[in-house]
Amino acid sequence: MPEPTRPAFAPADTITCDRDIAHAHFAPGDQVVVIKGVADGELWGDAMTVVTPSWHTPTDEDGWRLRNPIGGAQSFITGHPRYLVHLSKRCPDCLIYLRALEDYLLPKVLGDKPVDLGWYRVTDLGQLVHADDTKAAGR
Ligand SMILES: [Zn+2]
Repeated sequence: MPEPTRPAFAPADTITCDRDIAHAHFAPGDQVVVIKGVADGELWGDAMTVVTPSWHTPTDEDGWRLRNPIGGAQSFITGHPRYLVHLSKRCPDCLIYLRALEDYLLPKVLGDKPVDLGWYRVTDLGQLVHADDTKAAGR
């Protein structure tokens, strides 16, 4: 896939922050994806493996240590459960979230070039943090 572009006016994510998902929904070994944007009319993101429970400091809640095989220096990061979508199994919880994101995003982001919406960043301490949680944490 070509390098994704960053649109000047990316739609804000109004879905992920309201997602209610239990920490125990995920388990070590699960294959998950963090949705980062749209490409060719479909959602895309980084596929990762759930490694072990880990404290997510930006939200002060239980998170998961994740291994991102293409993460380079940031191969191991900690994410909040609501950022994650199962790839390894089809479960209703994750499908509902994906559907909601598709309904919201796909009509707004058109064209065939991959678009990174810039919703996530990784902190110096290896914490994956969503733009909404950055605001909430005041940093
Ligand atoms: Zn799931």
